Amino acid sequence: MKTFEFRHASSIGDAIDAATTTGAKYLAGGTNLIDLMKGGVEQPSGVIDLRRLGLTSITSTDTGGVFVEAGVTNSALANHPLIRTQYPVLSHAILSGATTQLRNMATAGGNLLQRTRCPYFMQTVFAACNKRDPGSGCAARHGFNREHAIFGASADCVAINPSDMAVALAVLDAVVHVQNETGRRTIPIDRFFVLPGRTPEIDNALDPHDLIIGIELPPSAFAEHSWYLKVRDRHSYAFALVSVAAGLVIEDGVITAAALALGAVAAMPWRLPEAEASLIGKTPTAVTFDTAAQLAMVNAQPLSQNGFKVDLGRHSVVRALTLAAVDRGAEPAPDTSG
Ligand code: SF4
Repeated sequence: MKTFEFRHASSIGDAIDAATTTGAKYLAGGTNLIDLMKGGVEQPSGVIDLRRLGLTSITSTDTGGVFVEAGVTNSALANHPLIRTQYPVLSHAILSGATTQLRNMATAGGNLLQRTRCPYFMQTVFAACNKRDPGSGCAARHGFNREHAIFGASADCVAINPSDMAVALAVLDAVVHVQNETGRRTIPIDRFFVLPGRTPEIDNALDPHDLIIGIELPPSAFAEHSWYLKVRDRHSYAFALVSVAAGLVIEDGVITAAALALGAVAAMPWRLPEAEASLIGKTPTAVTFDTAAQLAMVNAQPLSQNGFKVDLGRHSVVRALTLAAVDRGAEPAPDTSG
């Protein structure tokens, strides 16, 4: 590992000052950044430890939503009563990721910044990876691409975003609060992640030195009817092959609002507006859900090894919607972790 400077930040301003003047990277739980540094994928000149900033609260907002500070651990977030009762799809998604030990370290802000697990990106022994080394090529496009994108890919990169939490945040229309040396601003979750295009080294809309302060959840419409379905090669400690976050509002037996997003199919959580629109005004039946699922996958463009994701995605949408439609009130999200 390359030698780097380590420092603790004493305040948000101190952290941003240090990042601005030295180019060092922020460090929270370290569950992704440290791995990448050990492998030589990330080689920052310094890291700024954020764990003394105290960004660890989860509070109700004046508008009836919830504000999650960036340093809240995944475990604390998934198990908080407000999240379990009002945003069970978020709790469920987080508990489906990683392991208890990792969730105890990983943070909400860091989760948004985790990088793709494309094996060509993760291992410097592979020369061609535009995300790690811009201009070097994309070994995955015609190589091992079973786990890669079927939506929104480019000639330069076909990687996916690995976050479960982000898929749930997409259907909840979360808003990311960030701060840098010029002030504070918000980024809606649907504009936070960016597709690879010609610049796959860029994962998101953050500016240099932006520090994620927290994540705002608007008032929940889907507390009664939501689900996060994660399909993977083994039941625990595995990234998704396909995942689905689904939220429904059902009034007098009719769907009056719907939100759907796929995970592990693109470089960002993949919202499905046509499928969502098809659900409105319908009764929650197998035919309704199958129609939505057909629409969900209509623009998929699989690679040489991941055509199975199209069928898997279609069936997963039906399954997630079916489970979301079950009225389970404020039942806590199931712990599907290992
Ligand atoms: Fe690199 Fe993206 Fe290609 Fe993977 S898919 S090798 S991350 S450029």
